[in-house]
Amino acid sequence: MQCPRCMNTDQEYFYHGSRGWYCRRCISFGRALIEEEKEAVSLKEIPAGSEEYILQYPLTQAQARIASACAQYVKSGDILLHCACGAGKTEIVVQSIAEALKERKKVCFAIPRRQVVLELRERLAQYFPHARVIAVCGGHTAETDGDLIICTTHQLYRYYQAFDLLILDEPDAFPYKDNAVLHGIAASACRGHRIYLTATPDAELKDMKEKGIITELVLNRRPHGHPLPVPQIHTGFHLFLLIRLVRWTRQHRDHPRMVFVPTIAAAEGLGRFLCLFDKCMICTSRTENRDEVIERFRSCGNGLIVCTSILERGVTVSGTDVAVYNADHAVFDEASLIQIAGRAGRSFQKPDGDVLFLCRTKSSLAEKCRRQLEEANRCAV
Ligand SMILES: [Zn+2]
Repeated sequence: MQCPRCMNTDQEYFYHGSRGWYCRRCISFGRALIEEEKEAVSLKEIPAGSEEYILQYPLTQAQARIASACAQYVKSGDILLHCACGAGKTEIVVQSIAEALKERKKVCFAIPRRQVVLELRERLAQYFPHARVIAVCGGHTAETDGDLIICTTHQLYRYYQAFDLLILDEPDAFPYKDNAVLHGIAASACRGHRIYLTATPDAELKDMKEKGIITELVLNRRPHGHPLPVPQIHTGFHLFLLIRLVRWTRQHRDHPRMVFVPTIAAAEGLGRFLCLFDKCMICTSRTENRDEVIERFRSCGNGLIVCTSILERGVTVSGTDVAVYNADHAVFDEASLIQIAGRAGRSFQKPDGDVLFLCRTKSSLAEKCRRQLEEANRCAV
């Protein structure tokens, strides 16, 4: 027996109720009977012309090369698009989306986090002015069919066998990462091929690449052509790190500065301490007016913010420098440190950002992150 929705085959999860067998593994998405014939969701046909697109900036040569390779390969298999943070992965898949739409194929762009869904819908609606681009996520579920569907990975349960092209953005991010139910739901929503977009492929994606299940395309260069910022690592006692951090915030006072910390308590403590020297904002999962704080930080141009890993992906503020306090804390893994370092040096105006890792003890993870960024820079040449 297999659950058609989450692909579960573990008998432990199947339960016989009054109307028949159902799967308890994905019960949070509503009760679905296993024996019930599951038909592909029928979605509206895509009108001619919806494939026409305009990008805000033309692709660089390197981006265009990868974009064409991706559009070509995805016709016959699944792709891992491994692009450095800030290399323009969304723009790179636009050609693949356009070619699918031209063939009247149904395309979905699925993302683990809700906030990014709404931002991306805006962006893709600008790129595809003749297509009806819709967002489907918590609070936006009245309309679930469009020419191009942008949704959270949670919402994929609505689309059994509906998509010819499924683009999974940041599959290594919470809550999609290691979530068997969401993986199963994504698999059953896709009847064609998949593109996985990430700067930090997890063990599962690497394994799929090793086994030849997916083709990897790599882009380590950002559109401005400058190398990725490589972190400086300092190790020492608490007091030494604090002095080092204050000095860093002063050295970079003309730019926006993000200081990442491992816990909410550390964010509050360090935020109060840094306020003695400079105006300092705090952003954690407990911050109620989070969007407002981020907007204030973004618009101020040289603000200082202390935050937890809640801002490690997605939030891009032009010209930012980045520090991680207690980068050797268990909360951070290699992928999160690379994502954090990837916040810096993204703009054309300031392509060389500064990244500082402060560690209490010697950290092999921080070293590994540095080596990986150096390696990416070497490969990009
Ligand atoms: Zn299930």
